Amino acid sequence: MKNSSVAVVGAGIIGAATAALLTEHGHSVTVFEKEQSAAAHQTGHNSGVVHAGLYYEPGSLKARLTRRGVELLHEYCERRGVAYQACGKLVVAHRVDQLERLNHIAERARANGVPGIEVVDAERIREIEPNSVGIAAVHSPSTAIVDYPGVTRSLLDDVVLGGGELRFGDRVTRVTKRGRQHVVESERGGGAFDYVIVCGGLQSDRIAKKSGADPYPAIVPFYGDYFELAADKTHLVNGLLYPVPDPAYPFLGVHLTRMIDGRVTVGPNAFLSFAREGYTRWSLNIGDLWQTSTSAAFWRFASQNMRAAREQIATASKRSFVEGAQEFVPEIEASDMKWGGRGIRAQAMNRDGSLLDDFAIERIDNAVFVRNAPSPAATSSLAIAEHIVEQMLLQ
Ligand SMILES: Cc1cc2nc3c(=O)[nH]c(=O)nc-3n(C[C@H](O)[C@H](O)[C@H](O)COP(=O)(O)OP(=O)(O)OC[C@H]3O[C@@H](n4cnc5c(N)ncnc54)[C@H](O)[C@@H]3O)c2cc1C
Repeated sequence: MKNSSVAVVGAGIIGAATAALLTEHGHSVTVFEKEQSAAAHQTGHNSGVVHAGLYYEPGSLKARLTRRGVELLHEYCERRGVAYQACGKLVVAHRVDQLERLNHIAERARANGVPGIEVVDAERIREIEPNSVGIAAVHSPSTAIVDYPGVTRSLLDDVVLGGGELRFGDRVTRVTKRGRQHVVESERGGGAFDYVIVCGGLQSDRIAKKSGADPYPAIVPFYGDYFELAADKTHLVNGLLYPVPDPAYPFLGVHLTRMIDGRVTVGPNAFLSFAREGYTRWSLNIGDLWQTSTSAAFWRFASQNMRAAREQIATASKRSFVEGAQEFVPEIEASDMKWGGRGIRAQAMNRDGSLLDDFAIERIDNAVFVRNAPSPAATSSLAIAEHIVEQMLLQ
């Protein structure tokens, strides 16, 4: 694919990383983004953590691209002066029945090649996080925090400096084939390109379906609310404090996260969202809700996950966030926490109602569709770009 014209749909971190790499390889790149700015959805509403690769099935795309992604992201941030801090992470067990899962996480992390992994006792937890309690923890000293919107903007600057074009406020409706080229149809005209890479996040299934790809995996949006610690309490947390994940549930659970700008957040929880892109507490999009509630796959998922759903509903109140935070840091009080916004995850679901865990990327002719890029895909973004450009497109 020498000196090709390439359209990238979506200016989240995966679209930006892919566009920047294609530009570096000498291609002529046009980025289509429906919003007026970059990182407007998942990339700008996440926890800001550079995951080290503790949890993922060894050998999976997620595991491989996360380790490579950390390496590339760290190097990129140093080179381009984007804020990055290896503040370290503790996955903390509070009960004896969590110890087996904790040891399993440590084994997986080592199998994935995560450096410096240790299982530590209560005393060592106190040395690392003096205000925190727990009976044991997995310590990952290299887990980091970063400014993901900053990384995204920097990557898009690289595209422009390399001669590429950014088309903000230009929604892509579909991609079709015309002769040897692909036509990107968009609200402001679109164009014909040798290759198209669709990185549409929460809208990825819709763009794929309208472009003739399989409707599955379909996106089911799950929102996660965050609370924020008052500024005079942020000193209570040095780095990242995570619970031992519940295997019955696909997300990592409410955690305390030091952000790169000094804030400390508590969250996110995970609930079915009534809007794919609504960030207030009462957001509702009739089309989005209709699509989810009329999907047989969703109802299969719901019937298989009743217990987990009931347990999650119990964690919706501010009180449950406060209790969750106090389990890690007893000194935190309800008056120290205020609502701090929400993020919405694009979780891909198979036709049979199962959730897709691994990253999923599909190539049809010279169009590539990123179909599932859940957490830690921001961490893995530069490696996902490398995978698309240097492996999928060169095949
Ligand atoms: C609550 C939450 C916490 C998370 N925490 C972490 C974390 O700590 N670490 C981590 O590594 N990952 C985390 N993630 C996951 C991570 O944020 C995502 O995996 C990553 O941001 C996905 O990037 P993306 O570019 O695929 O999607 P997005 O950032 O959603 O970007 C997609 C873009 O496509 C655009 N678009 C959509 N449709 C069209 C169209 N038709 N035409 C033109 N443009 C279109 C959208 O406007 C958007 O800008 C978290 C996610 C959430 C929601």
